[in-house]
Amino acid sequence: MIIWILFLCWWLIAFLPPIYINGKWFMKNIAGLTLAPFIFFKKKEYLNSERFIKHERAHVFQQRVFPPLLFLIIYGLNYVINRTNGMNHYNAYHNIIFEKLARAAEKE
Ligand SMILES: [Zn+2]
Repeated sequence: MIIWILFLCWWLIAFLPPIYINGKWFMKNIAGLTLAPFIFFKKKEYLNSERFIKHERAHVFQQRVFPPLLFLIIYGLNYVINRTNGMNHYNAYHNIIFEKLARAAEKE
């Protein structure tokens, strides 16, 4: 029961307006990371990039459609499946369905 309440609360907070947080202290090889409603960015300049904002906001949208936990599970499984199919790290990441959709959203 408590698990479902936590699951639903986590999903509900994903609907808060996005909150931008400087994550340079833990982000080495990534520019942005979204755990709705939080959008972590590596460099402040990225916030001036319409492309960056559109990309990360697409991930917020995805985590509203799917509950964040389900999003993370699908995201991780998609990566593992891509790796199992012989892709290197970069291609496996690049071909995650949520990443493809976020890249498409950058052009909208
Ligand atoms: Zn992304």
